[in-house]
Order: sequence, then C-alpha cells, then structure tokens
Amino acid sequence: MTLTVIHAPSGGPTPVLGPNPDRVENLACYLARGGYRAELPPEELLARVEAAELRGHGGAGFPTAVKLRAVRDGAGTPVVVANGEEGEPGSVKDRWLLRARPHLVLDGLVQAARITGADRAYVYLSDAAAERSVHEALTERDPGLPVELVRTEPAYVAGEESAVVRRIDGGPALPTAKPPRVFERGVGGAPTLVANVETLARLALLAAAHDATESVLLTLSGGRDAPVLTEQRYGVTLRQLAFLQGTVEPKAVLMGGLFGGLLPSTALELPLDRARLAEAGTGLGCGAIRFLAPGECPVSVATDAVDHLAVESSRQCGVCVSGTRALRDTLVALAEGRCDADGVANLARWAQGLPGRGACGLLDAAARLAGTLLNGFPELVAAHRSEPCPACAATPPDAGRRLRVHVPAPLSAPDRAGDSSRPTQPQPQPHPQPQPAPACVG
Ligand code: SF4
Repeated sequence: MTLTVIHAPSGGPTPVLGPNPDRVENLACYLARGGYRAELPPEELLARVEAAELRGHGGAGFPTAVKLRAVRDGAGTPVVVANGEEGEPGSVKDRWLLRARPHLVLDGLVQAARITGADRAYVYLSDAAAERSVHEALTERDPGLPVELVRTEPAYVAGEESAVVRRIDGGPALPTAKPPRVFERGVGGAPTLVANVETLARLALLAAAHDATESVLLTLSGGRDAPVLTEQRYGVTLRQLAFLQGTVEPKAVLMGGLFGGLLPSTALELPLDRARLAEAGTGLGCGAIRFLAPGECPVSVATDAVDHLAVESSRQCGVCVSGTRALRDTLVALAEGRCDADGVANLARWAQGLPGRGACGLLDAAARLAGTLLNGFPELVAAHRSEPCPACAATPPDAGRRLRVHVPAPLSAPDRAGDSSRPTQPQPQPHPQPQPAPACVG
C-alpha cells in the first residue's frame, strides 16, 4: 500500500492538522499552543458551538449543538464518547488525529462533558497505535473525570453510534434498531453523546476561541499518486482537490468514503459545500474522496465498493443480507459484460427502494453506489451490458482492498521515543535528579 502524504496548505497551520502534523503532539506542546485553557461557562460554550454551526465529522453531519443539548436534557447522568472507530476503507483522518493530537481530542471530550454534565467518558477505537497515543496522553494529564479506553475490532459498522454503545456495554459492536436513539438511552441506559473525534477536536478549538468550522480534514486518494491527508477550507472545488492529490482529469469521483456514491467528471467544479453537494445528490460524509484515474472504470469501482459492503454487512437485517448480495451480484454481472436489461432495471429499482430499510446506513450506501452509477454514467452502463471494458476485466472485485488507504504514523516526540528501548529494570541513580518539564517537540 502506498504511504499517505500529509499536505499542510500554505499560509500557516490549519486548526486541526496543526503546525507539526507528522509528529505526536505532547502535553507541553499542546499547553504551549493554548490547550486545556478554555473555561467558558457551559451554556456560553454551547451557544458558541451553535453559532459556529459545528456539525459532526463522522459522516451524517448532524448539528453538534442539537446533540449536546439533547444529551444534557435527557433523563439521567450523561455519558460522553469519543468515537475514533473509522470503518470507511478510504479514510484515515480519525486514526491520524488520535495518533498525532490525542490531547486535542481529549480536550474536546472534556468540554463535551462540561456542556452535558457527564460524569464519565470513553474513547472508543480499534487502532493500536491510536490507543497507545491516547493512553500516553492520559498518563501525561488527568482529564478530571474518569476516561476509559474501549477497543473494538475494526469493521465498517463498528463506529455506528448504537454499535459503539453496544460494544461499550460489553456486547458486540453491531448496530441496533432505533428508537431509542443513544442520546435517549445509551451506555448503561444513560443519555449518551457519541461524537466523532474530529468533531471533538473542533469543539476544543471553538472553546479556545479558534476558527474551527471553516475547514475540514480530508483523505484524498486515487490513481497512481500517493493518498493525501489534508485540511482544506470549505469552498475548494473537487477539481482543485483532484489536482492536489495528483489525479489530473479524473474520470469520476467516489464521494464520502463509500457513502456519497459516484459523481461524473462533469461535477468537478462542485465546491465542498454541504448544500451544493446535497443538491448534487451526494455528501462529504467522513471526508474521504477517491478520484478515478482515466484508466479506471466507475463500474468496477462501484462493484468493488458494493462487494466490500456486502462482506461487511453484519447480517442482522434480512433486507441487508439479500439486498447487498443482489446489488453485488448484479454489478459483478455488469462488470463482466453479462447483465441484461432486467438486471439494469433491478439495479434502478433497488437503488430507489432499499435506502432506509436497514438498521444502519450500510444498505443505503450500497444502494446509492448503484443509483449514482446508473444516473451518472448511463452510456457506460449501456456499453457494459454486452462486453466488459479492459479496466473491469483487469480488476475483478477484491472486497474493497484496493480502496484502502495507509494511515500516517506520526513520529513520537523525543521525550516519549524509544519506549521499547527503555531499560526494563530501574537504573541506579547516584543522586535524585529534578524532573524537567517535558519539552514541546511535537
Ligand atoms: S443494515 Fe446491514 S450492516 Fe446495518 S445493521 Fe442491518 S444487517 Fe447490519
């Protein structure tokens, strides 16, 4: 897998990537940059979050202030959860954030607890390096409330909020039927905020009066060039992002991880703007965007993506098991040049009828991939009915492995480096030495 490049835009550090995105930010650095200083009264902070129109960065884009208020006003003492489980194969930003800037996330988690009145918190993740980094951050500074790390197995649905609650409560990381929503009955039956880690990072920045809602973390991938983790201001166009990543003149765009479907190249002038993307029938989701190089085919990419979703279905809802399998099998037939008119008509019918029928969004994602393929590439679909194109023939579905992106591994700060090389036995000290404050090196 090609290593992911971190692209810091020119013009000074961006709020979440920060000044040194390839290094782990230790406590001294975070404090030097103004971290853990915000002490706004909770009601004022909530008003600031609302005025800034902060939205969730995990995928759904729900207004954060509405969630915070619902949890605060629920029945019982609330619980807050930093959700770092990143199931989208094309996204790396959440794992990078936990690895590189754990204090920023923990600061946001503490601010969320202050707003909601929570008396305990969890950090939920599957990435071992992220877990080590958060654990180290918790040993550097007491967050002032109990924070427990909960590890899960990586899976597409493991970060869905009801799956998060179920796993923290000791069960499997699988979604449950709604209602109740987790803000009503979550961990241990308590009203629970499950917030994406980037959302919490931006909450911490807002608490410190930084500009936090003008930009977004993005994972860009495609073609032969390396994937890119970057932070860009809203308003940048898809064409500019494709250029930045290195896929010039992409043939199509896979939006929002696997959740936003496929866009044709005629959509490249679209800006990253929630309303404009929604008008175009897509969304930014978790901020993962894949550009299809001229040699790639939207049919094989859609087939591969739906194959991945069919494999990742948690098989709890009958409609999801049969729906993802039918979508996958029909798309495979199309990619192999053996799909008749009924097959294409079935794809169109399923794309319309399946969304909203599963307990989570996985089935919706699969249906949207099929629907956007039919709507955005009608001539290509027609041509594939009788004959596979060279790209489809060369790239049979591999359950989404081609769509995976490597997670950047920020360097440990020197005062933490070499944990594995530290002596395992205490070394004799001739005289007690005063401990210096940790240096800001991250
Ligand atoms: S829609 Fe699919 S992935 Fe989601 S809970 Fe139901 S079976 Fe599982």
